Amino acid sequence: MFRRPSLALTLFLVAVFAVALLLALLMNREEEPPVARTQIAMGTMIEIQVRGLSRDRADAAITAAFAEVRRVDMLFSTYKTHGPVWRLNHSRDTIIQVPDEVHALLRRCDTLWRASGGAFDAAIEPLVRAWGFDGETPAVPSAEALAAARAHSGWAHVSIADHRQIRKKPDAAVNFGAIAKGYAVDRAVAVLMRHGAHDALVNAGGEIRATGGDWQVGIQHPRSPSEMLAVVELHGRAIATSGDYEQYFVVDGSRYHHIFDPATGRPATRCQSVSVIADDDMTADAMATAVFVMGPERGMDFLTHSPDIEALIVDADGMQHSTPGFARYRMR
Ligand code: ADP
Ligand code: MG
Repeated sequence: MFRRPSLALTLFLVAVFAVALLLALLMNREEEPPVARTQIAMGTMIEIQVRGLSRDRADAAITAAFAEVRRVDMLFSTYKTHGPVWRLNHSRDTIIQVPDEVHALLRRCDTLWRASGGAFDAAIEPLVRAWGFDGETPAVPSAEALAAARAHSGWAHVSIADHRQIRKKPDAAVNFGAIAKGYAVDRAVAVLMRHGAHDALVNAGGEIRATGGDWQVGIQHPRSPSEMLAVVELHGRAIATSGDYEQYFVVDGSRYHHIFDPATGRPATRCQSVSVIADDDMTADAMATAVFVMGPERGMDFLTHSPDIEALIVDADGMQHSTPGFARYRMR
């Protein structure tokens, strides 16, 4: 009565079984709850979220990504006394050897300085110190102290040499505060991907990059912390925000914050916040700082010459300005 199943039927059954198995695996994958962890690093809260991996695999990926953030922090921090930036900043030599990665980021800072007409200037560390933003109690410097800091501040005192070397005046000093968090986020995402996490988000205090998925992030209102200025869907890209509300103090009703206009040596006054969307977070981070200094008019002009970069600017009066393409990302 029972005939042996034909080869065609056997193959058909095997195929049905294989498809069912694949579907079960995919559905199971979707059911994996997201894994989110936070750590303090680079002077801010770093948050990493991973979707679609088992708890163990997500944990391993996140642990490796946090280690990468700490490695980048070691490399670019102005505070780590054994780090290359400390050595660069405190050396009296005029030619200084730095690690490849530091040399590469300094080259990027050089390009950004030129492209932004000096608004982005990684050699403003003497200003950071004069205004006390390297310590616990920032304050308005005396006219003499500000003049001395301005004399040593600025990218004109630094130049990039070959063979991992940097030339600088002895009192010049660099600070990667406007670009290193974005770079760390990019590196963390690369590590997550290497560990199989292709649907993930890394947030370093508002410098954010997503990979895969439909990640939506909120942009904080610069004057009302509990309010969202906008919500954007990242479409696998990165966003960074520079604001005058992160690190600031108020004296006689005036707000003094940590983003300096290199032209005046004082906190930039033309914006309350600038959010930039780009393919990588290092670019978004640096451009947000540059546009913040430039202000809405010069900033918009700069942005129209920067392909594939979108931005939302809140000017000093609280008025919003955005690039035409920003609407594609904006959910509300
Ligand atoms: P946040 O760190 O709040 O995201 P930014 O990305 O704008 O803000 O970085 C601000 C930091 O960058 C400052 O703390 C300082 O170290 C450095 N910085 C300040 N002004 C400039 C500037 N004009 N160009 C480059 N770096 C700057
Ligand atoms: Mg920045």
